[in-house]
Amino acid sequence: MCQNLRGRREWFGVDVIVVGCGAIGLTAAIRMRESGLDVRIVAADPPLETTSSVAAALWYPYKAYPEDRVLSWGSRTFEVFEELARVPESGVRMREGVELWWDPAPDPWWAGAVPGVRRCTEEELPPGYRDGHSFTAPVVEMPVYLGYLVDRFVRAGGRIERRAIASLEEIVDGRVVVNCAGLGARELVGDASMEPIRGQIVRVRNPGLERFLLDEDNPEGVTYIVPRSEDCILGGTAEEGEWDTKPDPETAAGILRRCTAFEPRLAGAEVLEHKVGLRPGRPEIRLEREDTNHGPPLVHNYGHGGSGITLSWGCAEETLRLVQRALEER
Ligand SMILES: Cc1cc2nc3c(=O)[nH]c(=O)nc-3n(C[C@H](O)[C@H](O)[C@H](O)COP(=O)(O)OP(=O)(O)OC[C@H]3O[C@@H](n4cnc5c(N)ncnc54)[C@H](O)[C@@H]3O)c2cc1C
Repeated sequence: MCQNLRGRREWFGVDVIVVGCGAIGLTAAIRMRESGLDVRIVAADPPLETTSSVAAALWYPYKAYPEDRVLSWGSRTFEVFEELARVPESGVRMREGVELWWDPAPDPWWAGAVPGVRRCTEEELPPGYRDGHSFTAPVVEMPVYLGYLVDRFVRAGGRIERRAIASLEEIVDGRVVVNCAGLGARELVGDASMEPIRGQIVRVRNPGLERFLLDEDNPEGVTYIVPRSEDCILGGTAEEGEWDTKPDPETAAGILRRCTAFEPRLAGAEVLEHKVGLRPGRPEIRLEREDTNHGPPLVHNYGHGGSGITLSWGCAEETLRLVQRALEER
């Protein structure tokens, strides 16, 4: 999927280098390339080996801050996903589902971004639950979607190089560098505020489910069911500061038990895969320009926690604006 460039000579004329090939890097690179900039991506891991490939990936703001910027980026991304849901090869689909609460809950703070959020009736609540919200949101089938994004970028003339870099200065050379390294930014720019938020999931064959379900409050652990075309993503965990990427069998058994309690059709569903991803946690998303004394400014776009897919297009458009301004000043 990735193309190898032979060296820096091939970067002649390139305006922007994007570091990272997950959902954040690819969407930013697409917006910039489609607005006419010459853009290259360099990434240590190809798209299907990134955290993005593990995501469930439901539009839902989760463990990403600050709320006001998250709401604005999330609203814009919701609109773009509504358009992509009309493009069959994108892997994006609008699905109905519910979010359940063990205690009475206020309206969701993100409700302004989602048309038609409504409170569940008592009959809709499973035993033990006292509140819930029903809404329709984009579900993104990541392996399909990442392939769609790569094709779209490459068809527009973008190029991707697989390579780990040790510092952003290594690749600046007069260009604007956009840092979309996710959790990798911890080492790449020495950002000690970055912490992994470990997420384990079980992928099972879809026994015919259409609706998603979220139970963030479950005392036994965050629980979600996200159906896709052929499979379902069952979750999960959100373990802050935990780096272990090996799936834990006991955790997997707990996920299967909790999800099957909600949805008996999952009993005996064929288990296809166990996976772990490390969400790029940060007290606040870093989307800003950084001026340096050795050339054009850097633009950072990382630290999206559990919401990288949910915020991607909104962040990509803000990145484009920052880069255009930086290039005008060059
Ligand atoms: C189990 C799980 C469920 C999730 N569910 C959802 C969900 O339902 N909805 C949602 O919105 N989000 C969800 N997320 C969160 C989402 O996956 C992340 O927020 C998102 O993937 C972050 O994307 P990214 O592009 O910033 O990082 P990544 O996907 O990690 O990509 C980072 C890229 O940077 C590259 N890189 C890093 N360092 C270097 C370096 N030094 N040199 C070169 N390249 C480098 C990597 O190789 C990679 O290509 C979930 C995450 C997990 C783990």
